[in-house]
Amino acid sequence: MEATSDRYFESACRNLAFVFITVDDQLNVQFWNEAASRQFDRTAEQMRGRPILEILPDDQRATVQESLSRAITTGETADIEIKLPGVDHTVALVMIVSPIVDEQGRTIGASLGMRDITERKRLSQEVARTRRMAALGRVAGNVAHHFNNIFGGISMKIDSVLGSNSPLEMRRVLRGLAESIGQATRITNQLAAFAESENTTYAMVELNPLLTKFIEELRRRAKPLRIEIVTNIDDVASQPFETTRLMPVLESISQNAIDAMPSGGTLTIDMKRQGDDAAIAIRDTGVGMSKETLERLFEPFFTTKSGEDVGSGKKIGLGLAAVHGLISEMGGKIEIQSKEGMGTTVHLLLPLKGTPVSGSDMSGAK
Ligand code: ADP
Ligand code: MG
Repeated sequence: MEATSDRYFESACRNLAFVFITVDDQLNVQFWNEAASRQFDRTAEQMRGRPILEILPDDQRATVQESLSRAITTGETADIEIKLPGVDHTVALVMIVSPIVDEQGRTIGASLGMRDITERKRLSQEVARTRRMAALGRVAGNVAHHFNNIFGGISMKIDSVLGSNSPLEMRRVLRGLAESIGQATRITNQLAAFAESENTTYAMVELNPLLTKFIEELRRRAKPLRIEIVTNIDDVASQPFETTRLMPVLESISQNAIDAMPSGGTLTIDMKRQGDDAAIAIRDTGVGMSKETLERLFEPFFTTKSGEDVGSGKKIGLGLAAVHGLISEMGGKIEIQSKEGMGTTVHLLLPLKGTPVSGSDMSGAK
C-alpha cells in the first residue's frame, strides 16, 4: 500500500487507538472508526449519514453542536469534555473538534477525536483528595500542638499559684494567664480569617487617608530598624472603603517585609488605580524566598521563622494564610513575586466597585 494513498490513510484512521469521527457541514457522520464502534456500540454502516448528535446524551447535545458549528463556520478548534452514562459509572471523554478544509480552503465539515479520560480524572481526583487530607492533617496537628503548649503553660501557672498566698504572685500569674489567652485568641482569629468567616463589624474609611496613616505609623517603627520607607501613592478616589479586613492585611505583609530585612533595607509602597481596582504593591529589599517557600506561603502554619516570636505565638505561619482569606473576602487578589536574595514584591488588587473614577486617574496605564 502506497504511503500517500487514500487507502493507507483510511486504514490509519480506522485503526486509531482513539475515537475518530468526521461529519459534514450538516453534522452528519461521514467517517466512523473502529474505536468509535467500540465506544458507542454502533458500527460505521449504522452511523454513516446519521446525525452525530444522536450518540450524545440530551444534556450535552447543545454544547457539542455549538463547537461543531463553530469549527465549521469559523475554523476554530475546540476542546470539550463530555460525559456518557456507562455500565457501572460515568465515562468521561475529552473531545477535540477541528475543521476539515477542502482544496479551495472552504470548511466542509469537522473531525472529532475523543479519548477516554475517566481513569486519569479519577486518579487526579484521588491525588487532590490525598493532598487535601494531608494539608488538613498538618493544620490539625499544628492547632493541637500550639493549643497544647498554651494549655500546658496555663496549667503550670495555675499550679504555681495554688501553693502561694502572695497577692503579688497571684497578680503576676493572672497577667501570664491573660497573655496565654491572648495567644490562643490570636490563633483562632487568624484561622477564622483564613476560613473566610465573615467579619461583621465594618469600619468605613477612604483608602488614601487610611494608607497614609498606616505608612506614617510604619515609618516610625521602621526607622530604628534602619528600614527606609519609600512611597508612590496616587489618589485612587475611593468611596469609603471597608477597612476592618484591610488593616490586618497591610500589617501582616509589612511585618513580613520588615522580618525579611534584619539588617535594614528599603520598603516601597505603591498605589495606583487600575481599572475598577486599587493596585497596591509592597516591595522589600530583603532576603527573598526559595521556590518551596513561595509555593507554600499561604499554607496555615507554614513558617521559616523561629525564635522568640514563635515562642510567643506571634510568628507561627498564620499571617499570610489570614491575608489570603481576608483578600478573597474583599473580592480582591494577591500575588507574590520573590527570588532568593532578591527581595519580595506583594501585589494586591482591591476592587473599588461603586467608586466613581475621577477624571485623569482613569487611564491606569503607566
Ligand atoms: P510568619 O510570618 O508567621 O512566618 P506568614 O504566613 O506571614 O508567616 O509568612 C510565611 C512565610 O513566608 C514566612 O515564614 C517567610 O518564610 C515567607 N515570607 C513572607 N513574606 C516574606 C517576605 N517579604 N520576604 C521573605 N520571605 C517572606
Ligand atoms: Mg508573617
